Amino acid sequence: MNFDLTPEQDQLRDAVRELSRKYGHSYFVGKAKSGEHTTELWHEAGRLGYLGVNIPTEYGGGGGGITELALVCEELAAAGCPLLLLVVSPAIAATVINKHGTEEQRKKHLPGLADGSQKIVFAITEPDAGSNFHRLGTVARRDGDDWLLTGRKIYISGVDEAGHVLVVARTEDASTGKLKPALFIVPTDAPGLEKSKLDMEILSPENQFLLFLDDVRLPADALVGESLDAGLPALFAGLNPERITVAAMGAGTGRYAIEKASDYTATRKVWGGRSIGSHQGVAHPLAHAAVQVELARLMIYKAATLYDAGRDLEAGVAGNMAKYAAGEAAALAVDTAVQALGGAGMTTEYGVATLLGAVRAGRIAPVSREMILNFVAQHVLSQDKSY
Ligand SMILES: Cc1cc2nc3c(=O)[nH]c(=O)nc-3n(C[C@H](O)[C@H](O)[C@H](O)COP(=O)(O)OP(=O)(O)OC[C@H]3O[C@@H](n4cnc5c(N)ncnc54)[C@H](O)[C@@H]3O)c2cc1C
Repeated sequence: MNFDLTPEQDQLRDAVRELSRKYGHSYFVGKAKSGEHTTELWHEAGRLGYLGVNIPTEYGGGGGGITELALVCEELAAAGCPLLLLVVSPAIAATVINKHGTEEQRKKHLPGLADGSQKIVFAITEPDAGSNFHRLGTVARRDGDDWLLTGRKIYISGVDEAGHVLVVARTEDASTGKLKPALFIVPTDAPGLEKSKLDMEILSPENQFLLFLDDVRLPADALVGESLDAGLPALFAGLNPERITVAAMGAGTGRYAIEKASDYTATRKVWGGRSIGSHQGVAHPLAHAAVQVELARLMIYKAATLYDAGRDLEAGVAGNMAKYAAGEAAALAVDTAVQALGGAGMTTEYGVATLLGAVRAGRIAPVSREMILNFVAQHVLSQDKSY
């Protein structure tokens, strides 16, 4: 058993840390408040190769795995820049296209994802399906060689920043007549595709959208993979990378909040010469949160290691557990940090309460804590499925 990063991973983490600190949380908040995106940070990270660490070298990436991408996500978040589009574009879209796309799709899309010049976002959630993807109502019909997509998607992140959106739809299986999932790479400016920005109570430079697809016409090669049989494996291919990297983002955010709070409580004095951190009522909750974040990190890197070793089923269990643990730990850490900072905790200047919305959302998305508990109950504890 080895809990150490490789020297290359260590170097990557240090380099990403340096870049992230150059920008920092005030940059992230400033962009969010002015309705702008973190374009400079994204492009610099792309130029330095950090956005493509998990993409094979022949397509311009770093040739690493999800472990490397998790390190990038964690370090950016640990500097107060939790970028959700890292989860959507390099973790989900690049993995799906790399593992299940055609060679043309890999050549067309992966180099741009690797250098950050392109983003592909991901659309599965629907207003009437939610957590139950078996109810997806977005349908793809054949029209000659083309496809026509019709349906609605909700909470889709980053559509305004992306050239394409990977849409999960359903097609009719000619042999059984049943609907089965298929993924399509849809240009965000395709005729018939409309987006409407949702007002979210999350302070973030990244936005969520409602998508309306009304007979969006796509060429045959918009379908991910060589045939419709690629649909289900392609859909599942994105899940482990998504859970692991979103968990890494949560753990980084937790680290950020605890560091902010402990710097403050170590020096703030309101009772004579002793710091408020010397009071256990202040220090213990922070220490407890630090334990939770560190435990989540262990599970995140276990899951990433299993995934990169090709042990997908075990990575699925560990990735879900990591996502659950990190979601809870991040929410606890930010809330505890706000409390430890007192009034300062609620100011924009101290940069902690600014993360409350994001960490709260992290217990819901991309998979809710309840759906993870369902998964663990069913697949680890062998309980009957209740839904
Ligand atoms: C900030 C943010 C960004 C997002 N980005 C994207 C994106 O880029 N692309 C995308 O496709 N989606 C995105 N989502 C959607 C997200 O994945 C969903 O919100 C999430 O999967 C939950 O679905 P829902 O909101 O429809 O909740 P519902 O399915 O309506 O569930 C509501 C509540 O009921 C619980 N629940 C439901 N079923 C069960 C059950 N069987 N057992 C126990 N509890 C249950 C849920 O856990 C939840 O607490 C985003 C969401 C947010 C908040």
